[in-house]
Amino acid sequence: MSSSNAGNGARPVLRKVRGQVTSDGAGVRLTRILGTRELPDLDPFLLLDEFRSDSPDDYIGGFPDHPHRGFETVTYMLAGRMRHHDSQGNSGLLVPGSVQWMTAGRGIVHSEMPEQENGLLWGFQLWVNLPAAQKMTAPRYQDIAPERIPEVERPGVRVRVLAGRLDGVEGPVQAVATEPVYWDVHLEPGARFEAELPAGHQAFAYVYQGNARIGDTELVRGELGVLGGGNRFVATAGEEPARLIMVAGRPLREPVARYGPFVMNTREQILQAFEDFNAGRF
Ligand code: MN
Repeated sequence: MSSSNAGNGARPVLRKVRGQVTSDGAGVRLTRILGTRELPDLDPFLLLDEFRSDSPDDYIGGFPDHPHRGFETVTYMLAGRMRHHDSQGNSGLLVPGSVQWMTAGRGIVHSEMPEQENGLLWGFQLWVNLPAAQKMTAPRYQDIAPERIPEVERPGVRVRVLAGRLDGVEGPVQAVATEPVYWDVHLEPGARFEAELPAGHQAFAYVYQGNARIGDTELVRGELGVLGGGNRFVATAGEEPARLIMVAGRPLREPVARYGPFVMNTREQILQAFEDFNAGRF
């Protein structure tokens, strides 16, 4: 990595979007950034929600039992605690700094409930598509405690490597079809972060604190930048500390048939998902 040719191969921001406030589950207030009319998907990513509130009314209802089929849900907690239970008998507690990578595969019914009655609940849920050949795979959970997530430190920069590689450090998420990269990047005021990214991966960055310049584009808190091609990611903080997530993955380039919690390749497969779910086959 050379800083002398910083413009060469650095991914630009192609477009900038802000999320929409909505509610999901049993009345959980959240901001949907990806998976909206404005930005329906970003192959292989299907949805990105940020939930962030210190008002229990906004989150206490949680996400009671609901199904998923055909993709993966990734929950990354910044603050607060969530309990999950599923139809396979798995249960776990997501604490601040932890990530849960859940492969729904052929079908799972689970609940995701805040395990707190007050205080801040803050985190992200990302949906990652599965290739056609793996949509009906067995469900799998990767529950990753905060201490298992390696951190890369550089002057003014700290990066938590949830998935993918950075400076020879490998994130703990294993064997995911889309070979994802998921970094939580913390920048001190004015700090610059530059790193290699797989050139063929689709990528986006979402600033959740402060503001950061990516390529020639300034992103403020709450803005997602869709990144163009290139083999490097470069971000520079403004005058305040900045925090952002940078997510990249191998695009699938397959047809997407999507209805609520089911994401398949054809309409027939969606109807089959409803039939299987209603027959209790999840
Ligand atoms: Mn879910």
